[in-house]
Amino acid sequence: MKVELIPALKDNYVYLLYEKIGGPATVIDPSEANPVLEKLDELSLSLNKILNTHHHFDHIGGNEELVKKTGAHVYCSTYDLNRIPEAQSGLKDGDHIDLLGESANILEIPGHTMGHIAFWLAKSKLIFCGDTLFSLGCGRVFEGSLELLWKSLHHLAALPEDTMVYCGHEYTEANLKFVKSLGDESVELSTFEVDLAAKRNLGRPSLPSSIKTEKTLNPFLRAKNLADFSRLRIQKDSFGA
Ligand SMILES: [Zn+2]
Repeated sequence: MKVELIPALKDNYVYLLYEKIGGPATVIDPSEANPVLEKLDELSLSLNKILNTHHHFDHIGGNEELVKKTGAHVYCSTYDLNRIPEAQSGLKDGDHIDLLGESANILEIPGHTMGHIAFWLAKSKLIFCGDTLFSLGCGRVFEGSLELLWKSLHHLAALPEDTMVYCGHEYTEANLKFVKSLGDESVELSTFEVDLAAKRNLGRPSLPSSIKTEKTLNPFLRAKNLADFSRLRIQKDSFGA
């Protein structure tokens, strides 16, 4: 499974999945259509599925035009069926859909929004988790509760540690500042910081991360309990991002 990271809007990532040049493709969270259409053209891919992790405009903005131009089928959570443009099929926790011959597992991970889902490809060891888990961070609570988000993050943390994590935004550098403000001076964090600077200085994405990295460094996953987590998330709200 090949994953193309397409930067879109200010700091979103759209993910294009395909097996081979000239074959079928699936797109995840197309915030806008044009960069996706350009990439499809460049790689001679035909888009047949659009997957949305949640209903926020910066994850669905390209749905209408992509459906019009390619006829792709749109999947999202059953919860979001009535608020995502062009949505056709609703998904629930434990459902599977075929992605280019591989079975993708649907995980319900509410908290950022109530209808938020993730797409987990166990065989390829990939998780697409939208705005729930970020590298060194997590999403804000817009519709759910801190408790729901805490449970969802632990749902993700229970995946195999070598699972690669594809998040909805390039927030890693800002999140690192927050982690450092908490006083983390570990060798692991210093090594991460050097690697991150090397990637970003070359204009490369910081993503994907991995479940192992996030379990080691992400303060929201390392929080001891819900109270600890909640304090941290509220602190982050006023820190910015
Ligand atoms: Zn969002």
